[in-house]
Amino acid sequence: MVIVMKHGATSQQIGEAIQRIEALGYQAHVVRGVERTIIGAVGNGRTFTPDIADGWDGVEQVVRILKPFKLASRDFQQEDTVIALNGSRIGSDQLVVMAGPCSVEDRCQIMETAQAVKEAGAKVLRGGAFKPRSSPYSFQGMGEAGLELLHEAGQETGLLTVTEVMSVEQMPLVARHADILQIGARNMQNYPLLHAAGESQHPVLLKRGMSATLEELLMAAEYILSHGNRRVMVCERGIRTFETYTRNTFDLNAIPALQEQSHLPVIADPSHGTGKAALVGAVAKGAVAAGASGLLIEVHPNPAKAVSDGAQSLTLEAFSKLMGELKGIAVAVGKRL
Ligand code: PEP
Ligand code: MN
Repeated sequence: MVIVMKHGATSQQIGEAIQRIEALGYQAHVVRGVERTIIGAVGNGRTFTPDIADGWDGVEQVVRILKPFKLASRDFQQEDTVIALNGSRIGSDQLVVMAGPCSVEDRCQIMETAQAVKEAGAKVLRGGAFKPRSSPYSFQGMGEAGLELLHEAGQETGLLTVTEVMSVEQMPLVARHADILQIGARNMQNYPLLHAAGESQHPVLLKRGMSATLEELLMAAEYILSHGNRRVMVCERGIRTFETYTRNTFDLNAIPALQEQSHLPVIADPSHGTGKAALVGAVAKGAVAAGASGLLIEVHPNPAKAVSDGAQSLTLEAFSKLMGELKGIAVAVGKRL
């Protein structure tokens, strides 16, 4: 349930409400909004009754959340979550573009890409160092050396960085080098990893599992939120369907459907969503038109030579051209790029 405090409720009243929620056996999650403070009471506390907060000072109303995800839901928080990060803001009417290679390969590749995507207007540099590959014989990523290069390229250009963390053990190392932790499609339901991401205070980019429903995605986000980390973005990256022409089927519905149900920023990944560089631009534009708060796009100086995902990677020139085209669409739907 959500306890909505009155406009102007005092910190003492808020503190007392928290104590009472905890005494009933719930965990209290406080959101201090511009208008009013709300407190999410989650867990297996006393069975809900509408009069549960009768007589508590400063309480305006109590709302029961019937959805299985609570902290992720719009019922809990009506305003969009906006993640502030080193002067950038991710969520709501901001459109943030995250771009870079699938994998960090060497200094020259990541530096050249970083400079180019920065010039084109990206705010975040992506680059995998720990790669979840379908085959154990494929390139598995540069590991720590790759993280160091990504970090260096971020420092050099002033771009934020995002990279995948595949296990709980890698979490401290990845968090030392990157600004945003990516949890990949294959790990969307890795509960120990979600738990660890919840205890970290790093923003998390959580990708939809390839066969996950939207509810399962939001339940995975709920794990992170319920362990104390509010800075979660959810990412549509295409799902498995009967279609084989494209690598995955990008689910455009997911963007407005997630936004209807959740306040979390929704990011679109048209690269994994299509698997084909020639289709990335059109799907990126569709995602922005549908209201996405960000894009995750694979870019490589020489896609034909890329060690992973070359077929879906844009050249530096193609990326720059796409950024120009996105501007008009962003403006048309009230987003700032
Ligand atoms: C990636 O971003 O390179 C990646 C492996 O993505 P996904 O987890 O969506 O497959
Ligand atoms: Mn990739």
